[in-house]
Amino acid sequence: MITIEDVIKNSKLTMDSRREALIRSAYQTALNAHIGQKRKSGEDYIQHSLHTALNLAHMGMGSKTISAGLLHDVPEDTQVTLEEIEKNFGPEIAKMVDGVTKLGKIKLRGAKEENYLENLRKMFLAMAEDIRVVIIKLADRLHNMETLESLPPEKQERIARETLDVFAPIANRLGIGEMKGNLEDLAFKFLDKENYQYTAKISAEQKEAMKKYIDVMVAELKKELSQEKIQVLEIFGRSKRLYSLFQKLKKHDMDIGKIYDLAGIRIIVPEIVNCYETLGIVHKKYRPLVGRIKDYISLPKPNGYQSIHTTIFGPAGNFLEIQIRTKQMDDEAEFGIAAHWIYSEKKKTFKNFFFREKAKVPEKEIAWVKQLREWQNELGKDDKEFIESLKIDFFKNHIFAFTPKGDVIDLPEEAAPIDFAYRVHSEIGDRAMSAKANGKMVPLDYKVRNGDVLEILTTKDHKNPSRDWLRFVKTSAAKSHIKKFMKKEGMI
Ligand code: MN
Repeated sequence: MITIEDVIKNSKLTMDSRREALIRSAYQTALNAHIGQKRKSGEDYIQHSLHTALNLAHMGMGSKTISAGLLHDVPEDTQVTLEEIEKNFGPEIAKMVDGVTKLGKIKLRGAKEENYLENLRKMFLAMAEDIRVVIIKLADRLHNMETLESLPPEKQERIARETLDVFAPIANRLGIGEMKGNLEDLAFKFLDKENYQYTAKISAEQKEAMKKYIDVMVAELKKELSQEKIQVLEIFGRSKRLYSLFQKLKKHDMDIGKIYDLAGIRIIVPEIVNCYETLGIVHKKYRPLVGRIKDYISLPKPNGYQSIHTTIFGPAGNFLEIQIRTKQMDDEAEFGIAAHWIYSEKKKTFKNFFFREKAKVPEKEIAWVKQLREWQNELGKDDKEFIESLKIDFFKNHIFAFTPKGDVIDLPEEAAPIDFAYRVHSEIGDRAMSAKANGKMVPLDYKVRNGDVLEILTTKDHKNPSRDWLRFVKTSAAKSHIKKFMKKEGMI
């Protein structure tokens, strides 16, 4: 059981009286609204609101976002309306709460195909409209995952799958590495119990075995470095997260002996020159493994990642990876995680929005990831201009619509149902007669909106494209199909 004091105490922001009063007032409203409600775990519902808020506080979110986190399930699950929230807490918080409610209604299930999932993630971000809404949703999901045990197995499976396929990749893209790791490990536990337990066992054994060596090495390195007058900003032991360890194990025939970065030490120093000095000292002290010295400082990864990695023989002959980097490089580590996404996606053959046409990362898209990274740091601030910048406009030229089966179709702005029909299948486009959006008939030149469920009614006996359609279709695929048909029919 946690209390509102835990939320306030754990906030990374400097708490002034105005902020604190806001959070307490949101808490009071949520408490009264959810009174008598229980979670499946048997806990009072308010515990879920508090945990969501606590997760947001941990992430360094501002008082408005924390307040919206406290209120996030109020309009959906209680008698208190969104209008009342707006009246008491203003439009900004009300909008966030509304955004979270709307996102909660999207069905995030379906095909396993990566392209489809990618569209689902994009649509999720596009529909959130405000980056803070996504972050609240992640904080909410984290607590739902932590309490997943109380749900029936089918639900556990579905929610864990959704978490792994949609939420963790989004956390990753936003550079919230901690959140990504937590969500993945929790989902892993429910989706693949056997391998989870196996990986957890291996990891615990290794950690236990390595711990005393790491402690000794940290102490030794600290001493050596200080003798050489190298300032160490941070030095600490680290170990690989379970899900990512398992992914790596799978790649190496489950042979733990082939994984060299299972445990390691990270050293953070002020200047680039100190990184090389530190490398020299590390190698003087511990023998490096040939072929495992990676200088990503002079040769950054294609995504810009910078650090020196070296694998050394530790005191007991085990391998340990040592990472050396500057503070700035480490500050970009979270951005690096987002960049890592770009990098690892790039190796796959499918196109995603970072690589729409070419394999090269467009400058603009990198800037986008950087921007997200900066937002992460700035999220505590309250000023107007900044709030404006939180609006998610990077998908502003994209519309996401659903087929009745729940497939996500990515369309350009102002696209028509005919564009949608051709995107689904050329036959459906050619035979389109009329369209329904969210169950209601709409004209064929209707402008599709984000989140619309579109149904295309087709003719069975003949093809139907009309010259008229060229007036309003937006995709080149639709245009070329229509023209092709007309040419064949001698209409052009
Ligand atoms: Mn919730």
